[in-house]
Amino acid sequence: METHLIDLMKGSKAGAEAEAILRACVHCGFCNATCPTYQLLGDELDGPRGRIYLIKQMLEGDEPTAKTQLHLDRCLNCRSCETTCPSGVHYSRLLDIGREVLEAKVPRKGSDRLLRGVLKMALPRAGLFGAAMRMGRLVRPLLPRLLQAKVPMARGAGSRPTAMHSRKMIELAGCVQPSMYPNINAATARVLDRLGITLLEAPATGCCGALRFHLNDVEAAREDARRVIDAWWPLLEAGAEAIVMTASGCGVHVRDYAHLLQEDPVYAPRAARVCAAVQDLSEVIAKEKGPLAQLLEGTRKQREGTSTVFHSPCTLQHGQQIRGVVESLLQAAGFDIRPAANGHMCCGAAGTYSILEPELAIQLRDLKVETLSAGSPGVIVSANAGCIAHLQAGTPLPVRHWIELIDQSLEPRP
Ligand code: SF4
Ligand code: SF4
Repeated sequence: METHLIDLMKGSKAGAEAEAILRACVHCGFCNATCPTYQLLGDELDGPRGRIYLIKQMLEGDEPTAKTQLHLDRCLNCRSCETTCPSGVHYSRLLDIGREVLEAKVPRKGSDRLLRGVLKMALPRAGLFGAAMRMGRLVRPLLPRLLQAKVPMARGAGSRPTAMHSRKMIELAGCVQPSMYPNINAATARVLDRLGITLLEAPATGCCGALRFHLNDVEAAREDARRVIDAWWPLLEAGAEAIVMTASGCGVHVRDYAHLLQEDPVYAPRAARVCAAVQDLSEVIAKEKGPLAQLLEGTRKQREGTSTVFHSPCTLQHGQQIRGVVESLLQAAGFDIRPAANGHMCCGAAGTYSILEPELAIQLRDLKVETLSAGSPGVIVSANAGCIAHLQAGTPLPVRHWIELIDQSLEPRP
């Protein structure tokens, strides 16, 4: 695709990147076939090819309007289009560049501005979010249905192991996950402990920055990334072998720290080292398959007939290109994994999308629940707290993180 970027973009790293991405697109439209919003709305401007054109026009000097903003806001950033694209177009990066320029040119107004401001302020603060979650649980029956869905019932975390092994890994406590689903990281710590690995949590890590980044506050997201790197650095220096991501939404963002901080001479090298150490939990556990099988052997019979279906988050399958790993781990553990149609499609959670675009998010969720439920599974599992909460609001079936199933299946200690 030929491009003529405006002077503002010429000579900048973002401009060069946008130009390369735009030139890679051959306008074939294959990506529309797997785009959730194009499939729902049937509008070219609500598909990747149309959005690429909107961004191109803006970067070439056309003034963007509220309509440009509407079509870019409706994008889930699910990256299904990237998986489909035969030309390797890095759509999400172009979207990030486009949204940053658009945000400066078309200021938010009224309730949209207020809501985004509240989300940017409240969600990344674990203490504040935790207090709101506790309060929400107290009055849950009185809340409107839409809000009830955002307040999952409390589930105990159980105990954390205290043993210190020579092998150590770092966890990201995160911002919303500890109060929504404290059991996820606790279950991870228990499973890793049985595999001879201590899971460490660095103090004062806070939010990885994904929330503010996707709300177009890129500078605040850079600050989040610097704080997280500072918190992890002493543990990495002390020999921690990996940074384990239990939420794929955080994982995909942290893997991008090197890019986010590429122009920061102090933090760029540290960010590169952090990125090299990041692993999704499924990658960590897949390397321990043999020892894990031994720990699960004695309880295998209990799982026979436990039908399970896996919803692979977009941040795992498209963002990190990790596919089939969780399914094969669960299968090896003895779970009966049922396939689901349209596994590539987003469930509609997409960070804050389910709050900012509730109608589309609910349509996508209901479609996803329908396909996941088709094989009559006993439980739905996923790998990201946001997807788990969003799906749970649309089904009576239990929705869990896959590591919780592995944790429950461990043989008791001799
Ligand atoms: S992004 Fe890829 S699939 Fe979509 S129109 Fe461009 S080249 Fe074709
Ligand atoms: S990121 Fe997802 S919603 Fe956005 S254009 Fe690509 S496929 Fe469509």
